Amino acid sequence: MFSYVDPSIYELLLDQGKIVTIGEDGRPSEDDIRPSTDRIHLLGPIPLPTMVDGREHTFRWYPFVRRTQHEQVLEIARRLRGTPDMNGLRDLLTSQMTVSSFLVYGAFEEAEVPLVRVHSCCMTGEIFGSLRCECGPQLEEAFRRIVDEGSGAIVYMASHEGRGIGLWAKGITYLLQDMGRDTYDANRDLNLPVDSRDFRDAAIVLLHFLHPPPRIRLLSNNPLKREDLTNHGIEIVGLERLVVGLTDHNLRYMHAKHAHGHATGDLPPASREDDEPKE
Ligand SMILES: [Zn+2]
Repeated sequence: MFSYVDPSIYELLLDQGKIVTIGEDGRPSEDDIRPSTDRIHLLGPIPLPTMVDGREHTFRWYPFVRRTQHEQVLEIARRLRGTPDMNGLRDLLTSQMTVSSFLVYGAFEEAEVPLVRVHSCCMTGEIFGSLRCECGPQLEEAFRRIVDEGSGAIVYMASHEGRGIGLWAKGITYLLQDMGRDTYDANRDLNLPVDSRDFRDAAIVLLHFLHPPPRIRLLSNNPLKREDLTNHGIEIVGLERLVVGLTDHNLRYMHAKHAHGHATGDLPPASREDDEPKE
């Protein structure tokens, strides 16, 4: 972020086509003639050697951010040029951008109907290895399936923690769940939507990379994700089930998801006394 105070770096990235602005239709915008429809700033590709199933595979990483958030940071950097300004510097260092990621593998762009995982950020499941949800194993399995297939992409949505309510509220819903509420009731108890995720930005980035007609196979059990992406112009040819990471700790949560239409298939009973140990 601080490097933007030197405008030559930003200009170099623009000249090299390493930062592009894309509109609602996924098309790049050469200049700012369509500011009302420009949505996303995309950076990359950045080669990302990644360990998948014990072997190294290189994904192409594209961080992306909403244009409005990025431009706030650019504006603060502009103010700082030439005049030392402690307030501006503090603004720059504390400015927040929610940066999501698009990870591409193989000849994704050429594939007729590529495999795609749109994955919501989950710090507890993916970083801490929490067993209260299956997000960590799902993300690992998505990487594995895409590498096995030879091409595909993962859209990793950074703003989707706790199905969109954020990490703090998610912590509270865990406490409420331990008092007997299910994962959906706990959100309602907080007067929060059961699911406040918006997949429009994911759709815009997919439209940017897919050749028309934009068709994918979606690695997901979630019919709402399918519906939302479809509403934003992506044709979902098939929903490929991704049921992994079942544990004693998340079976109640998985049953609640099943009751809300997730294609989890048959699940073992959720009550602990009925459970067999999981492998
Ligand atoms: Zn999770």
